[in-house]
Amino acid sequence: MHCYDPYAWLEKSLTTIHRADWYRAVKTIAGRPGAKIILDGHEVINFASNDYLGLAGDERLIAAAIAATQEYGTGSTGSRLLSGHRKLHRDLEIAIASLKETEDAVVFSSGYLANLGTITALVGTRDLILSDQYNHSSLKNGAKLSGANVIEYSHCNVTELKTHLVEQRQLYRRCLIITDSVFSMDGDLCPLPELFELATEFSCMLLLDEAHATGVLGERGSGCVEHFGYSGKNIIQVGTLSKALGSLGGYVAGSNLLIDFLRNRAPGWIYTTGLSPADTAAALTAIKILQQEPERRTNLWNNINFLKEIIVKQIISQQTSSKQIATSEQPNLKLLPSNSPILCFQLPNSSTALKLGQQLIDKGIFAPAIRPPTVPTSRIRISVMATHELSQIQKLTTILKNIL
Ligand SMILES: *Cc1c(COP(=O)(O)O)cnc(C)c1O
Repeated sequence: MHCYDPYAWLEKSLTTIHRADWYRAVKTIAGRPGAKIILDGHEVINFASNDYLGLAGDERLIAAAIAATQEYGTGSTGSRLLSGHRKLHRDLEIAIASLKETEDAVVFSSGYLANLGTITALVGTRDLILSDQYNHSSLKNGAKLSGANVIEYSHCNVTELKTHLVEQRQLYRRCLIITDSVFSMDGDLCPLPELFELATEFSCMLLLDEAHATGVLGERGSGCVEHFGYSGKNIIQVGTLSKALGSLGGYVAGSNLLIDFLRNRAPGWIYTTGLSPADTAAALTAIKILQQEPERRTNLWNNINFLKEIIVKQIISQQTSSKQIATSEQPNLKLLPSNSPILCFQLPNSSTALKLGQQLIDKGIFAPAIRPPTVPTSRIRISVMATHELSQIQKLTTILKNIL
């Protein structure tokens, strides 16, 4: 047999990625997270963070993490079933269940793992998954890994979803509908009332990924379920401790039966080490702050609405009035529909998005270009924080306008 380097394809593959302007590299930031950060040595206003409430750099979370480390050490030393857990772990789960108004909750090592672990535990080869086309990678890969038959429906298209259910539901044992609640790369919301109605009509389980909604949506900051008035309904709520809660880890909240089952059957929970004491304590403190300081959410929504308003006033209306022809040098900005802190400007291609992203950084604004394969169309993604000052938001739109 002719011998060749079995790794040679790697370089070729990377070259292809470069050519398509799909190449990614990590940027280094210094100091604490916040509305202003030091990126590769330069101060920038940060519109690239999921730390919606500004808690990741909060003194109280830091103090809680230090205290927990001093009391319990750095590591959890093993899986919780095998090595035991701290009272802190259980306290966090009870706090999550109370925030979500569910019977119980279980904490995973990450939101990604919570989705993989839950989906694979709930369905298998005899079952059907219906999945929104724009779902997060963790939902899609969880679905694949489960071995269930997966059908993707067009983004938020409940008519199409219903057609699939009518045609397919009776051919399978269990059926699970999975969706982001706030879509992570678009910022719009899933049609929860319609999804819940279909799930009930066709005896399907419904799993909602509240990663970007927890701490952000709803009167109490509980998420999209609360926003739509669906608290108390039997919905599987997955989420992360790493976004508005400023820590690290994931969770599933739902009925006692569901959580008890997951503790016994979710390999992504059983065979992995428990959350570190520091992360656990920080998340627990974040939930308390979320409940005690609703003004953080008020600030966040004021900022979101302010940004939307000036984008329309200063950028969108100007483009329309000047009837400017869009070119790749001077793209017209289209704001994607959003009901969350995530606002996206759609752009014609990857290279335009990359160029605009870099121009923004040069002017002191950090708002990343999101490109395929993460999303079908390239865009600049802006995430608003409660701790942004109005002047910082104004600076973003002024600079965007000047670049264009
Ligand atoms: C970020 C995110 C996750 C993953 O959460 P991690 O805790 O960061 O692993 C899962 N789902 C959605 C929709 C997300 O945006």
